Amino acid sequence: MFDLLLHNANILTFNKDNSDFSIINNGLIGIKNGVIKLLSSDDIKNPTAKQEIDIKNKWVLPGFIDCHTHFIYGGNRAHEFQQILEGATYQDIAKQGGGIKYTVEQTRNISYEELLRISKKRLNNFVYNNGVTTVEVKSGYGLDLDTEIKMLKVAKSLGEEKYADIIKTYLGAHVTPKEYLNNSDNYIDFIIDKVLPKLVELKLVDAVDAFCENIAFNKSQVERLFKAACKYNLNLKCHAEQLTNTGVSDLLNNYKLLSLEHLEYADLKDIKNMAQNNVAAILLPGAYYYLKETKKPPVDLFREYNVPIAIATDCNPGSSPCESLLTIMNMACVLYGLTVFESIKAVTMNAAKALGLDDTIGSIELDKQADLVIWDINNPAELCYKIGAYRPDLVIKKGVII
Ligand SMILES: [Zn+2]
Repeated sequence: MFDLLLHNANILTFNKDNSDFSIINNGLIGIKNGVIKLLSSDDIKNPTAKQEIDIKNKWVLPGFIDCHTHFIYGGNRAHEFQQILEGATYQDIAKQGGGIKYTVEQTRNISYEELLRISKKRLNNFVYNNGVTTVEVKSGYGLDLDTEIKMLKVAKSLGEEKYADIIKTYLGAHVTPKEYLNNSDNYIDFIIDKVLPKLVELKLVDAVDAFCENIAFNKSQVERLFKAACKYNLNLKCHAEQLTNTGVSDLLNNYKLLSLEHLEYADLKDIKNMAQNNVAAILLPGAYYYLKETKKPPVDLFREYNVPIAIATDCNPGSSPCESLLTIMNMACVLYGLTVFESIKAVTMNAAKALGLDDTIGSIELDKQADLVIWDINNPAELCYKIGAYRPDLVIKKGVII
């Protein structure tokens, strides 16, 4: 006896060990204990279930995965967006204490309850309007111990509500806080010695990320952090080559990273390093769209060297205040030239790889977690083609309709 049966489903998925997509028309999906236990191209077996739904030939896709976000933050920067359009410069904004400094202040000052409330609204937008069932979220707007704990506790609490899986990434190495101005080496010591052990003790961290850039942290500082994180068996990720080429991909030969993220300035050597070490590329077309003046990442080289391409909203209050993964799928096609299938794979199977979760999510396969989204469309290409036209008919998380 199944818990749930979905009849007459058109199914699109990219499977773990197969680079091609697979489509089942008029299929049948059986779910038991939150896991896919039956996947059939015909509907004649007549198994029994506690609940059965006739999908009526709508499309079922794997729940989408937003694999790079900063959606837990205080305040927003709409006023700065407005000032820039009215002629202010980024220097003017910086002088008034704006930009990331503003978000750090707002995130430090907001109460836990209020941060939870506004973050839940953003998460609901991901889930119910975009069909996202797993979200990675990075800390890094507190920078001090208490605020980093507050941000990651919000992430943990949202995950415990069970309508989306939340992957918690510690991004202490986001920017040097005012307390350590001109002393970023001491700040790295602080996060290695004081913050990281506490977050591990409180079980608030799944992965560690760093922003390697000339305006943030250099390669040797990032390496020190990765070395410390390895002691706790945490996954490693890195914001890399967004504004310049830092050569941080050299670290891939010595540290097991899941992903490099941004990659506008990645070169052939970086891509070879990624390919050799099985590292996914997370591209963030929202930041390219808002910042306008950055480069396009070398998509052709990722394809040539078979580096898995994932895409994500970024969802931060500065360079990509986008909460719609569907819009990002359109941007990836229009701005970066991804095909429709590349774009869908980039938010399912490849996003799962970028989080190290491709054994459990990212595809519709037997024994995988039943994270499924039903879309009232005739052709999956519609999801990339239109902007703002669709929201899911039904979202199923671990076999439960939410
Ligand atoms: Zn980011």
